[in-house]
Amino acid sequence: MAKLDVVRVPVLADNYVWLVHDPESGETLVVDPAVAQPVLDAADARGWTISQIWNTHWHGDHIGGNAAIVAATGATVTAPAAELARIPDVDRPVKEGDVVRLGDHAATVWEVPAHTAGHIAYHFADDGLIFVGDTLFAMGCGRLFEGTPEQMFRNMARLAALPEDTLAYCAHEYTLSNGKYAIRAEPDNADIARRLAAVEAMRARGEATVPTTIGQERATNPFMRAGTIEELARRRAEKDKG
Ligand code: ZN
Ligand code: FE
Repeated sequence: MAKLDVVRVPVLADNYVWLVHDPESGETLVVDPAVAQPVLDAADARGWTISQIWNTHWHGDHIGGNAAIVAATGATVTAPAAELARIPDVDRPVKEGDVVRLGDHAATVWEVPAHTAGHIAYHFADDGLIFVGDTLFAMGCGRLFEGTPEQMFRNMARLAALPEDTLAYCAHEYTLSNGKYAIRAEPDNADIARRLAAVEAMRARGEATVPTTIGQERATNPFMRAGTIEELARRRAEKDKG
């Protein structure tokens, strides 16, 4: 199987939309199109036609481009079955364990509730990639709008169990803010200090810090590293205060 091409499309203030292209089948999908035009342009520039949209959750900055991309390309929409009431015109509602495909590449759907009640991730196990939406961020996790610390704790444990070279594609550039909190949470963690310095330099140069890897998150993510549900809850509450 040829390697998937993954292209980052930065939109709005800090969203990343991911275009995923399979060179063998020629198929292209987009994960969480916040908006349409920059995504259509990025596909056009490479001679790709989007045939599928995969959403991780119902928030507007993840589905806002669906309708216009469908109108322009006829793409099908795959989205969490649990959020059908909040995502218009879903062709394929999916739940835990369902398999969705791009060409011969298979992704398994994970239910990772907490940021929203029906949030899902798409795991390409054979490709070593996972699209995590707003569940995992580099050195952070999503806010608990519709779920509990216990749910997020389980999500973090499940993600942490992936091979360490698995690439995690997050939907936002939040790494600098997360890193500043991470060093407050774990002042003696040299891996966090090193990563924060690297991220500060990258952001000063205008570079993206996503995707991340599961190995980096195990070493530097204070939410993935929380030893108990209570510790995760406390860290999440502290981070929310800024
Ligand atoms: Zn969100
Ligand atoms: Fe978001």
